[in-house]
Amino acid sequence: MTMTHLDDVFSGLSSVRMGPEPNPGVCRYCGSPAPAIPLTRGRWLPTDECRACNEVRIAAWDAQNRRERVESLWAISGLPPEAKNVSTEILDAQRYRDRQGRAWDLVASWPPPSPDAWRAPWFFGPIGTGKTALAYCLARRVMEEFEQPVFFVGVAELLRRQRASFGNKAEDQDLLERAVGAGFLVLDDLGGQAMTPWVLDSLFGLIDARLKAQKTTLITSNYGPDALGKILEIKERPELSQTANALADRVLALTIPCRLQGESIRLEQAIERAKAC
Ligand SMILES: [Zn+2]
Repeated sequence: MTMTHLDDVFSGLSSVRMGPEPNPGVCRYCGSPAPAIPLTRGRWLPTDECRACNEVRIAAWDAQNRRERVESLWAISGLPPEAKNVSTEILDAQRYRDRQGRAWDLVASWPPPSPDAWRAPWFFGPIGTGKTALAYCLARRVMEEFEQPVFFVGVAELLRRQRASFGNKAEDQDLLERAVGAGFLVLDDLGGQAMTPWVLDSLFGLIDARLKAQKTTLITSNYGPDALGKILEIKERPELSQTANALADRVLALTIPCRLQGESIRLEQAIERAKAC
C-alpha cells in the first residue's frame, strides 16, 4: 500500500482534522506529548501514542511475527526436538572448533560464495564426529536467520516410508516428493542403509533430480568421495556398480565435501566420563 493510499484510508476516519496543526494528544503509554500525524492536503490525524512508543510497539510486533514464522518453519522441518538444543554445547567448544575448523566455517559463513552459493556441505567422517549436529546447526541458521524452509530426513527413514507406502498413495509417498522439491534438504546418513536395486534406483532418482535443479542438499555420511561409490554397490548385482558410482559422482557435484577429523567425540566424552568416576 502506498503512502497516498494509506492517507486516503486515514482520511476516511472521523477523527481527521483539517486546518492548522492540532494540539498534541497525550501518549497512553508514557504520558509524553503525542503530536498529530500530518496527512496530505492540510489534514491531521490526532493520536494518543508518541513516536517513541509507536516504534517500540512496531518493533515488538515485528519480533513476534518473526518468532511465529520461525516456529512454523520448525514445525514443518522434520527436525527432531533435540536439534533445538544443539548449537552452543558442541559447536562453541573451542576444542571442536579447532579440530573441525573448515566444517565450522561452512556453517558459520553460510551461504558459500558464488558460484557455489546453492551447494550445501557433505559432512563425512567417523561416527560421532558431529556430522548430524553440524547439519542441525546449519538448518537452524537457514530457518532462523534466513527464514527459509528446511526439510530434514534420514535416508533410511525416507526409503522405509516410501516403501511402506506402496499401493496407497498416501502421505508417505509425498515424503519423497517433498524431498525432491524441498528448497533446502538435509539427507542424514547416506550410505547407512542396506542396498538393493530399488534403494539404488530411488536414491539415484532423488539425487539426480536435485542436481539437475541445483537444489541445495546437505548430506551427512560416514563415507566420503573415495568410499561412497563402493558402499552403494550391491554385491550380488555387479552390473549395477556403474549406477552406484554415477550416484556417488552426482553427490559430489551436488555438494561441498567436508571431512570431519579425528576420533569420535562421543567416544572421547565417554572416556572422560569414565575417568571422572
Ligand atoms: Zn509514549
